[in-house]
Amino acid sequence: MAISGVSCCRKSSEDEKSMRQAQTSSDGGGSSSLTKSIEDTGGSNNKSSQSLVRSHQVLKIKLKKITNWSGCSGAHLDDEPFYHGYMSREEAEKLVRTQGEFLLRKTELTKRGEVVVLSVFWDDSAHHLVVEKTNNGLHYLKEFCFENISDLVRYHHQTRTSVYKSGIKLFCWVVREEWQLYHEQINLGKKLGNGEFGEVFQGMLSVGIFTNDVEVAVKTMKGSKVTADERITFLREANLMLKLNHKYVVRLYGVATQQEPIMIVMELCSGGSLKGRIEKKEHEMSSSLKRKYCKQIAKGMRYLEKKQVIHRDLAARNVLLDKSDNCKISDFGLSLFGKLHKEQKLMKVPIRWLAPETLLKGIYSSKTDVWSFGVVMFEVFSRDYPYAEVKVLKELRRKVAHEHLRLQPPSDMPPEDTKIMEMCFEPAETRVSFDQLCKKFVYSPHLLSIPSFRYKDLTSPLPTWNGIANKLVGIGAAV
Ligand code: AMP
Repeated sequence: MAISGVSCCRKSSEDEKSMRQAQTSSDGGGSSSLTKSIEDTGGSNNKSSQSLVRSHQVLKIKLKKITNWSGCSGAHLDDEPFYHGYMSREEAEKLVRTQGEFLLRKTELTKRGEVVVLSVFWDDSAHHLVVEKTNNGLHYLKEFCFENISDLVRYHHQTRTSVYKSGIKLFCWVVREEWQLYHEQINLGKKLGNGEFGEVFQGMLSVGIFTNDVEVAVKTMKGSKVTADERITFLREANLMLKLNHKYVVRLYGVATQQEPIMIVMELCSGGSLKGRIEKKEHEMSSSLKRKYCKQIAKGMRYLEKKQVIHRDLAARNVLLDKSDNCKISDFGLSLFGKLHKEQKLMKVPIRWLAPETLLKGIYSSKTDVWSFGVVMFEVFSRDYPYAEVKVLKELRRKVAHEHLRLQPPSDMPPEDTKIMEMCFEPAETRVSFDQLCKKFVYSPHLLSIPSFRYKDLTSPLPTWNGIANKLVGIGAAV
């Protein structure tokens, strides 16, 4: 190992202190494990604003440059198991829990832009240390500087030299989770559609040398003009989906947040959207098939209800079909955890699918999802647009909320399905839950043999999440 002296302008220890204390996130306190937040280093209301004044002072200090240290790996940061890519302060604090436990993450500070931060638990709280850079590109935390961040962290970890003046040391790292994918594992293919934040592609996910690649759908986040807030919203959806695992809900395989563009990798639904299927009027759809779709959606929604997830945007356009023509609830962009949510202002909302209590008071609950499910039943059985005769949304809002306008069942809708649909349009207090609703769908034995719409080119079953996770562990070990 060689140690040489490097002079540099280094921020004062007060500055470091302020950085540690003042990283209050401005991302709305998201509980996301995937959020890329802007962390605030100060503000007039911030209790550490005083120390921030000092943060502009710099001290001339002598750093020691470490070279040829036996533990130097020169590894690319992306390949380090302790590097978690974009992550908010709040999420890091959930992961570092014991003395000396740490992780490295990327974040955005309001005054400094993108930085790499070491989050470490020490003496009952998490500390967040920005990895500093000298003018000539060396990285340091306290007194030792290195040519790359990977070596800096490994050195402090292996030698137990403190990373901060109060003696904070690095004992063990929090390993990246299996769902945190590398961009190199993902190969993009043809475009499937446009999402709110970017394009959606068909793709292949590589999960191991001896295993076939898996066909997936990849949501990407478009280019460099994306704001940090948009990134947070984009990853919110994945964060929520991570907690879901159900046959009739689109499965999340992982996210790649190490580089731009950020990607969300999901189960591929090669059958397109249910809306697209309904609109293809040339394809026959029997009542039994329509009922099958509705029953599957109800089952997926019952799962969400049990998990206390309010979808808030249930509509035929947000239900996808897999290769076996099974429904998968998708698009969790507006979804929330909780039993009840009240929105002060309704902005960019799907009026035609909303319950009167949402239109009147901004209330969302699983019961308002039940209402939207009733509208989906209408879409499926009528193969028509809901309230097509009312063109102006403001007028529709008034009619549904105040004048008791309700969707009428199409003439050929079987009475048992009509009954179920009408139950969804009951007032909130008496409206059924998804759990009760699922029990209303009773299949006659002959319905089980209905030929359904099939996609003959895709026949192999998707791997289970556990299967993928195990394989990814293998990849991690090989790096
Ligand atoms: P979204 O951002 O969820 O609205 O997705 C935009 C479009 O991308 C959808 O309308 C679908 O056409 C396509 N898409 C989204 N997710 C998937 C998926 N898991 N499988 C296949 N296509 C998808």
